[in-house]
Amino acid sequence: MSKFPDTQIDGQWILSKRGGKNPVDPLKPYGYFIEKERTVSGAIENVSTILLTNSECPFRCLMCDLWKNTTDEPIPEGSIPAQIEFALSKLPVTKHLKLYNSGSFFDNRAIPANDYGKIASLVNHFETVIVESHPGFINENCLLFQHLIKPELHVAIGLETVHPEVLPRLNKKMDLADFERSVRFLAHHGISSRAFILLRPPFLSEPEGVLWAKKSIDYAFGTGVSSATIIPVRSGNGALDALTAGNYFEQPGIKSLENVIEYGIRMNAGPVFADLWDIDIFSSCNNCLVMRKKRLTQMNLHQEIPPRVNCSCTL
Ligand code: SF4
Ligand SMILES: [Zn+2]
Repeated sequence: MSKFPDTQIDGQWILSKRGGKNPVDPLKPYGYFIEKERTVSGAIENVSTILLTNSECPFRCLMCDLWKNTTDEPIPEGSIPAQIEFALSKLPVTKHLKLYNSGSFFDNRAIPANDYGKIASLVNHFETVIVESHPGFINENCLLFQHLIKPELHVAIGLETVHPEVLPRLNKKMDLADFERSVRFLAHHGISSRAFILLRPPFLSEPEGVLWAKKSIDYAFGTGVSSATIIPVRSGNGALDALTAGNYFEQPGIKSLENVIEYGIRMNAGPVFADLWDIDIFSSCNNCLVMRKKRLTQMNLHQEIPPRVNCSCTL
């Protein structure tokens, strides 16, 4: 069997595999929480994350499941500030804030520039504000927002993978030059970039998935990002389940995630984090899962490599 299916993997195919969305309220975020994170200075501090309810991202990436908590149509002006205000009223005070909108913060269809002023007034007491964006929306809007806020602005960008045959098949409509241009544009204006990197996107075996995640870390730091977060790819968005059925995709194992994070920490180019969201699904061994989660958490927080977990499981 070929490494790649004959089917044209495009937005239409990806849409055709989807199930339904979750009900959402444009005036309420669909999630908000606090987690500990190691900052660039090395301190371990609480970070507030608000998962903003927004309209669906115009890109339809093969691995994305963020559309599940989005609206079909743009949400009214003022909705995003209202959501931030609501979440902050429920969360304890922290120094750092992530505003993730299931798309690109600087996409005017998602967040109108008219909302920036109100958002700025709500977030000005933070030291750092982190937003996410596709390179296609890294433009003057970033500078407009940066100038309105007092906190330092960081932008997380999905590099996904540097695999030359897989990246174009993710339907992200982005190439490495776009990524690099975005990081350089932001750096030129004093804005830090963070890279999201996939562990084992479709079409790769487990060892290939590990290898290309490591190559992607090398590349990301080479462009000048300040940190990298490794996201193990999970099924459940329809498209990936269809690819699993055709033997083109399997979820990575938690040991591979440990392997990649160890590599990233040893590089010592900047913090490398494991995305631990839903991490239990990447292991089927009840004997070592808790220990591996603890080890990954330690690596995230301390950027040091604790002793490996001994277990007879082969995952
Ligand atoms: S750009 Fe990001 S949010 Fe948009 S579809 Fe791709 S992965 Fe999902
Ligand atoms: Zn085990």
